[in-house]
Amino acid sequence: MKKWYAVIGDPISHSLSPLMHDTWFKENGIDATFIPIHVEPSNLKQAFESLQTLGVSGFNVTLPHKQAIIPLLDGVDDTASMMDAVNTVVRGGKLYKGSNTDGDGFVESLLTTESSPDSKVLLIGAGGAARGISFALKRRGFGDVTITNRTHRRAEELADESGSKSMVKAEAEKKLGDFDIIIQTTSVGLAENEALPISLQNIRAGTLAADIVYNPIKTPFLKVAEEKGCKTLNGVGMFVYQGAIAFEKWTGLKPDTDNMIQMITEKLGGTYVN
Ligand code: NDP
Repeated sequence: MKKWYAVIGDPISHSLSPLMHDTWFKENGIDATFIPIHVEPSNLKQAFESLQTLGVSGFNVTLPHKQAIIPLLDGVDDTASMMDAVNTVVRGGKLYKGSNTDGDGFVESLLTTESSPDSKVLLIGAGGAARGISFALKRRGFGDVTITNRTHRRAEELADESGSKSMVKAEAEKKLGDFDIIIQTTSVGLAENEALPISLQNIRAGTLAADIVYNPIKTPFLKVAEEKGCKTLNGVGMFVYQGAIAFEKWTGLKPDTDNMIQMITEKLGGTYVN
């Protein structure tokens, strides 16, 4: 019988996950399809019950349901528990368990740049994505991670939990030249004339500047970093690798990520840089 998978979110019409997973199902000879489902917060419980009744084999969860889905599931793994957020649900028999592949997806993407775990890393932001990335960096041996955030208390809390350091924004701006990798995880600075979340005045040429936002493909943060002679990494890699890890959890197969990065990049109309 044909299997089916889904992504639930609000909004969802912009999602590139169906294109990505349907392509991988085809490439791997799997008779399955991937459906985007618009679920408003007030309908989450009902939507999950319908997915179960209709026998979904697994699904992705995106904004704003990443936390709200947790009490509905039969359990979560350590990564999702640490992040207090689920982006991937895996079915085992009748049980639906939550996981989170965002942080590992980012680190897989970062490793394509051959960045050394000895690098000094600055993480800008302390929200859901930054949380996953800070834990994943630590798991993968990046020992020197500093977090800065608009609300400093959140940076301090995340740093304490993930074994990182925290730094107030003004100090991070002054010491920007000390860092080898700077990772932008907020969604600010995307609009015309909007300030970046941090001034890049003191960034050092040769630093790797990574932005996890992938639409636009080259964010204002990456444009400024490029002008300053930095290497850049956009968010397409994180998106594709988080999907690839979910795909492997569902099917046991490792999909082709290089072709997918090309395909998504072309779809978004930019150049993938690493
Ligand atoms: P959250 O809402 O959890 O976190 C938002 C972060 O942005 C917080 O650190 C917040 O700081 C900061 N922020 C918000 N407004 C401002 C502002 N005006 N000035 C300075 N900082 C601000 O969001 P997520 O972490 O879930 O997602 C962040 C981005 O990452 C989104 O754009 C999302 O699309 C993208 N993303 C990309 C993925 C990919 O696959 N490439 C995967 C997941 C997310 P404060 O604590 O002070 O409020």
